[in-house]
Amino acid sequence: MDFKRGILSLSLVICISVFPPVLAQQHDEHEHGAPVEFKMPTTYKAAVREVCLRLHEIEELMASKKLDQVHAQADVIRKVGDVAGQLALKPDSGVARNAIKEVNKAGRELASQFDAIDKAADSGDAAGTRKVFEEMRRLGDVLREHCPRDYACPMRCEGDKTYPKPGECPKCKMKLQDTLSHLDHSPKHGGVFFMAPDQKHHLEGTISKKREFRIHFYDEYTKPISAERFTAEATARSAGKDDGKPLTMRLAPDKTFLVGQVDPSIRFPLEIKVFIDFKDGERPQVFDFDFAGASKPPSRGEGVREVQRDGKRTEADAKRGH
Ligand SMILES: [Zn+2]
Ligand SMILES: [Zn+2]
Repeated sequence: MDFKRGILSLSLVICISVFPPVLAQQHDEHEHGAPVEFKMPTTYKAAVREVCLRLHEIEELMASKKLDQVHAQADVIRKVGDVAGQLALKPDSGVARNAIKEVNKAGRELASQFDAIDKAADSGDAAGTRKVFEEMRRLGDVLREHCPRDYACPMRCEGDKTYPKPGECPKCKMKLQDTLSHLDHSPKHGGVFFMAPDQKHHLEGTISKKREFRIHFYDEYTKPISAERFTAEATARSAGKDDGKPLTMRLAPDKTFLVGQVDPSIRFPLEIKVFIDFKDGERPQVFDFDFAGASKPPSRGEGVREVQRDGKRTEADAKRGH
């Protein structure tokens, strides 16, 4: 373990001395959004992981309408995207030789999206930012698809140990997990976030002040997916009460979530029990959502005013049936 740490700090030192111009480079055309701390990756896998994490960050910033902070995250993607091809070229990168050209192209294209997403985010254009982001995610997926897979116990029973093939953890017997999936378990809509037992899906439940309950679905890489292939049966009750009332869940018109209206007699704090059929041949899976109050979109270290404004927006969204 200590030995590994030693290697890690050693490689960090090497990294800093090999790439000083990149690290020293500051992007200071904009005053907003302090630059984020990150270490320039020295392996292809680390580069892919960094890109995945930053894309998740941007997703969250878009969900919480903090477009002014997109700049700093996109800047990291720009720097890492530019060196992805170079890292893939390293003999031990694990990237197939015939994929290097494609990886290099995707990395460069990803980096070149910086100006577009920065411009859209700076001008507060949510739809424009989303559009560029979708293209960035597609390019990020190309990088990820060519990354050699390895697997580890989700409980990290053996620390950083990984296996080249899927299987089960020799200690706790859990199914080993792709180390590039499940990088992010933070709610996108300020709700309650779960990983499904199949380890292939994630879901998030949110509730509005008017007690409209929604379930959003994500794949194992926390990418939002359509709710149309899933069905859910639910009951809701005021916390601690014995009898739950049925809560009918239907598909939202735009198919991005399942939605149901909690019975008006049920008050916060409340509990919702949901059986979700993932249509995978397994029995429906049960999830228990506890809500002390209405969900608020994620907020990061902003003033109270910002939180309240977001809260109102959510309520207005809910009223519109958005
Ligand atoms: Zn384990
Ligand atoms: Zn997960």
